[in-house]
Amino acid sequence: MALEVLIHGPLSRAEIARRLDLSQPSLTRLSAPLLAAGLLVEGEDQSGGRAGRPSRPLDVVPSSRHFIGVKLTGDEALGVVTDLRANVVSFASRAIPSHEPAEVADTVAELVAELAGPTSSVTAVGVGLGGLVTDQALVVRAPFLGWSNVPLGPMLRERTGYPTVVDNDLVAFTEAEHWFGAGRGLDRFAVLTIGAGVGYGVVIHDQIVLSADSGIGLVGHWPLQSYGAVCPEGHRGCAQALLAIPSITKAVSTVLDRPVTYDQCLELAEAGDPAARRIIDEAGRGLGRLIAAVGALTVPELIVLGGEGVHLAKVAANAVAEGIRQDRDARASALKTHILESDTTQWCRGAAVLAIQTYVLAE
Ligand SMILES: [Zn+2]
Repeated sequence: MALEVLIHGPLSRAEIARRLDLSQPSLTRLSAPLLAAGLLVEGEDQSGGRAGRPSRPLDVVPSSRHFIGVKLTGDEALGVVTDLRANVVSFASRAIPSHEPAEVADTVAELVAELAGPTSSVTAVGVGLGGLVTDQALVVRAPFLGWSNVPLGPMLRERTGYPTVVDNDLVAFTEAEHWFGAGRGLDRFAVLTIGAGVGYGVVIHDQIVLSADSGIGLVGHWPLQSYGAVCPEGHRGCAQALLAIPSITKAVSTVLDRPVTYDQCLELAEAGDPAARRIIDEAGRGLGRLIAAVGALTVPELIVLGGEGVHLAKVAANAVAEGIRQDRDARASALKTHILESDTTQWCRGAAVLAIQTYVLAE
C-alpha cells in the first residue's frame, strides 16, 4: 500500500481500496502502522463539507526517509542523497584511488559517510555500476573495473552499517524512470542511454524485463551501419562503435588531429565544423535507427532517452528524425520520445531508487 501511495499519491482511501482490491476495514488496519511510523500522512479533508464520512487522502511524507545512491565509474564514485520520492537533496563525489575492490569499497564507504552526515536519517544505500550483478549484490563481472566475483554488497554493508543493494546501473536507471520518472503509470516503455556505452532497458506490463544477461549490454551491439568503426567485440558500425561518447570523441579528435572533449564535439557540430557535423549527424542517424528498432520490437508507449551523452539527440535532432523515417513504416503512428537532461546524477538517482524499492517492498 505504501508503494501505491508512494508512486501515485496522494490517493483517497476509496481509490487505494479499489487499486489494491482491499476492504475499508483491511485498509484501515494496514494503514495504521504506516501512519504511526510517520511514513504516511493524512491530507486535508476532500469531501468539501458534504454530509457523510470525511475523505482525507493518504500521502507519503517524502522527507521521512532518505536514501543514498552511488554510481561507480572507472575513476570516480558519484553519490546523491534523495528523499523517499527520489528527489535529489545533495551530491558529492570522490576519486577512486585504484580498482582494488577493498580500496573501492573504502572510498564508497567514505562517500556514504560524507553524504549521510552526522545526524543521519539515511535508511539504505544503493550502488549502480556497469556490469553483471546477482541478487546477492555480487558483482559477477564489471569489465571497466577489471572485476569478477566481487561481493561488493556485503563489503559495503560491513563498512557502512547500512543495508546496501548493488545492481546494474541501467537496471537502476530504468527503475527510476519506472517509479518516479517519465515512465510512471505507463504499461510499456523503453529507455535508451548514451554514455560510456549504449544502454537499453524495458518495462513491459509495469514490470522491468530482466534476465541473467541484464548487464552485459546486448543492445549496445545492435548493428546500425555496414561501414564505420569497429567496437572491441569486433562489430563494425554497432551502436557502441557509432554512438558511445568515447567513439564520438575519438572520431572527431582523429579527424581534427587534436584531443577534443565530447561537449566540444557537440559544440563544433553546432558551430558548423564540417567534420564534427558529419560525425555527429551520422551518430544521430544511427540513434534514430536504434529508436526505430526499439519502437518496432518492444512497441513502447514512450522511449526515454538519457545518459550523460544524450545531448546528441538534440544537437542531431534532424538526423535522428531521418534515421527513424528510414526504418519505420510510414503508416505507423509516430514514436513518442522523451529526452532527459544530460546529468550524471541521473545514474546516482537510479541507484538510490534501488534502495528505495528494496525498503518499500520490504515494508
Ligand atoms: Zn559491438
